[in-house]
Amino acid sequence: MKHIAEHKDNAESIIEHAGFSFLYIRNLSAIQVEDVQYHSAVIIEVKNYDFVRLMVSSIRANHSPDIYLKPIFLLKKDAQDQPVLDELSDGSIKGLDELDLVVPIVERISARVQDLTFTNSISFEAQIITKLITLLYTKEQKTVEPFPYVYSNIGYYYPMLSVNFEQSEETVALDILKIAEDEGILRSDYYDRVYLCSSCSSNHLSYREVCPKCSSSNTTPDDIIHHFPCGYVGPMQDFKNEIDDKLNCPKCNKRLKHIGVDYDKPSVIHDCNNCNHKFQDYHVNAKCLSCHADRAVESLMSTEINSYRLTKKGELAAIKGFVTTTKDIDEVFGTIKYDTFKTMLKYEIERLKQTEGLSNICAINISNSSQVYSKLGSELQRGLLKDLVSVIRSNIRSSDVIAFESSSTIVMSMNAIPNKIAKKIIVEMIALLNDLIKTSFEDLDVLFDTKVVALDHGKTHDAHLKELNADFN
Ligand SMILES: [Zn+2]
Ligand SMILES: [Zn+2]
Ligand SMILES: [Zn+2]
Repeated sequence: MKHIAEHKDNAESIIEHAGFSFLYIRNLSAIQVEDVQYHSAVIIEVKNYDFVRLMVSSIRANHSPDIYLKPIFLLKKDAQDQPVLDELSDGSIKGLDELDLVVPIVERISARVQDLTFTNSISFEAQIITKLITLLYTKEQKTVEPFPYVYSNIGYYYPMLSVNFEQSEETVALDILKIAEDEGILRSDYYDRVYLCSSCSSNHLSYREVCPKCSSSNTTPDDIIHHFPCGYVGPMQDFKNEIDDKLNCPKCNKRLKHIGVDYDKPSVIHDCNNCNHKFQDYHVNAKCLSCHADRAVESLMSTEINSYRLTKKGELAAIKGFVTTTKDIDEVFGTIKYDTFKTMLKYEIERLKQTEGLSNICAINISNSSQVYSKLGSELQRGLLKDLVSVIRSNIRSSDVIAFESSSTIVMSMNAIPNKIAKKIIVEMIALLNDLIKTSFEDLDVLFDTKVVALDHGKTHDAHLKELNADFN
């Protein structure tokens, strides 16, 4: 407690407490978000919500784990709920004398951060997925829920994910969630549906009934009256007179008495004040408040909003580092999908049953991939993989195929050659790869493990692949 008093008024607002250093951000104070990395946690004074939103977002949207994973506490005197801010932070206190309450949270988060391995991800998508799953892991949270949020361009906000995007790019968050689900990192449950502008993906729409001819919203509705005694049907306007508010039938001149007794109102007719068109069925248009496009609601993009759950695979990916999505490695030129590789292997085994020929599958594994990938930026990583594939390609026959088993293991077929020759080719290939790395990448140690498995038509393709990858981790 003594420490707080001493440091409370110094310019840097650093509070040393229980062995931790808290960066105290006062209302509207100017701080560099980079300063966050030098402290164990951040406390933000809540007075102006715009300021708090800005501070919390700039910390969580930062790309350095030393910053975006930092525990954040809100210091608020009144217990006003701000669901999105509460989700982005790690708790709140009413005064600086309550710091003891958050110490266990800081301890727990700091300890869990130690479990994580950080690698540079190959793509932007992989990088954002890494941010999301590492935050979930350190917060011991398993769910990613959408929050209805007025500041969101699409109406729903996934705080720990959407915080990475400008308002106009928030739909990218939905693409990222889809990728994470395809990778088996998240599992989805239906939550709601939103309708987005087909031009700019905004959910800020104004719905109006409009004239089907000229799309004007300047229309006046009028009841249609059916007079039972004479059968006349027409707009209420025709029944009105200028003297009183009574209604008279324009056909038989009788005064109308009671609705349901001598007349009824079977429908409504609309008068367009712009083009004078009269119509019964109006169109519904949605005007986008973001880009001002005004179109029929049928043109809006119907978009599913899901809630998500971190899978066991996702939790492991957080700890081991998530380098790449399948999409990233599928894009490496000259490779086929791993699933296709498996299918082709199956056929080759079938073929061998008839021909008694000699074929092999081989694998090259980068055994220190975490170190390699954390040294290289995404562009260089992709460049490295491309180079590896092109060296391999030029050393195998054009009928042989290459695929990525993972971001660190490349597999290939070497059909119709003896096992001994395949082993020799692999050794030569590794020598070429080492040369390539020496000349193209400065100070980069890449360690390769290899394996060659001769195909045995008595074994399944799964058994072969298991044997091929058995020695790699
Ligand atoms: Zn009109
Ligand atoms: Zn009548
Ligand atoms: Zn729009």
